[in-house]
Amino acid sequence: MEPAYLRKIATAVNSIIFILVFGHMLFFYYIDVPFLVAFSIPDACIYIIGFILIYFDKLHVYVWLLYCWITLYTGVTTISIGVGYGFHLYCFSMIPIIFVTEYISYKQSRRSMKALSVSMVIAVFYIIYTVYATYFGPVFECSQRHKTLFWSFNALVVFCFLISFTYYLIKIIIISEEKLKQAAQIDQLTRLYNRHYMFDRLINITTEDQKCILAITDIDNFKCINDTYGHNAGDEVLKGLSEQIKIECSNCEIARWGGEEFLIISYKSYSETISMLDNLRKKIENSSINYDGKKIKVTITIGIASRCSGQNPNEWIQIADKRLYYGKNNGKNCIVTNIESLS
Ligand code: GH3
Ligand code: MG
Ligand code: MG
Repeated sequence: MEPAYLRKIATAVNSIIFILVFGHMLFFYYIDVPFLVAFSIPDACIYIIGFILIYFDKLHVYVWLLYCWITLYTGVTTISIGVGYGFHLYCFSMIPIIFVTEYISYKQSRRSMKALSVSMVIAVFYIIYTVYATYFGPVFECSQRHKTLFWSFNALVVFCFLISFTYYLIKIIIISEEKLKQAAQIDQLTRLYNRHYMFDRLINITTEDQKCILAITDIDNFKCINDTYGHNAGDEVLKGLSEQIKIECSNCEIARWGGEEFLIISYKSYSETISMLDNLRKKIENSSINYDGKKIKVTITIGIASRCSGQNPNEWIQIADKRLYYGKNNGKNCIVTNIESLS
């Protein structure tokens, strides 16, 4: 997670708690407990300090301050007015934050905060003060007005927090998993599938015995392009060519198979695939890629193989590869469907 994004979340959380402090203060005034009304002043100060810490990017200090203070606050309020108002419930909301903070510290290579130990300490404090308050009763006798209503309010705040926190956490996990999956499947330069993904696809296709045609495309004399125009120009050619393949070979699966090799899987008929690939070859031959004011011309050679039943991916690829290299040794810029005939 980006530090700026974390700061935004921390500011939002701190603002909500800050508003809540004044709501609680009014409530303590309403049930006539002056000690807790006065206690709300240091409470508000803590969240003002929180804003300063977040502003100066001291998020780890802020989180520690929050844990210590919320543990103290829930303890003091519960011992003061008993468990009936539900202030002790706020302790539960800290547990998921503690674990997420540990995870973020780990991601940022900071010293981890030992979430397990901290949450156990909070649990022990929670048990001590709730048992104390239940056993000895509240320190302050106060009006019992709207006790259930306020208990429900505090329970609602804690539940809302836990539900939304978990909801967004899972969303973030799903998004980052998607990104990882993409990064593992996509070639960064051309944005086509990579070899690893395509090989898995070929295994699926052969296992399911699907009917399709495989084409391996290789740029002719690509080394010369690098040598003449530079490696960056070579990269631009790879990108430009990938775009052209995507346009011409719609509904096909396309991967960057190696440095300047592309693997195309076509689900069209044999004759449609040949005409589609020949069209691609001609378009590439007749166009050029602009780089730094220069027009770079390239050609491609393609080896094609339909899949015979029982063929595994390696055997299938080998046939297409042989045809490709036959084309390379016989003038390049062509499509080879079998070793005997060149088109
Ligand atoms: P042929 O017509 O026989 O295919 O000859 P060729 O020059 O295209 O093939 P060769 O295998 O001799 O050279 C391939 C070159 O592709 C060599 C390598 O530096 C270049 N190459 C591989 N990956 C990349 C890349 O990502 N970017 C750039 N710019 N060049 C690459
Ligand atoms: Mg080549
Ligand atoms: Mg090659």
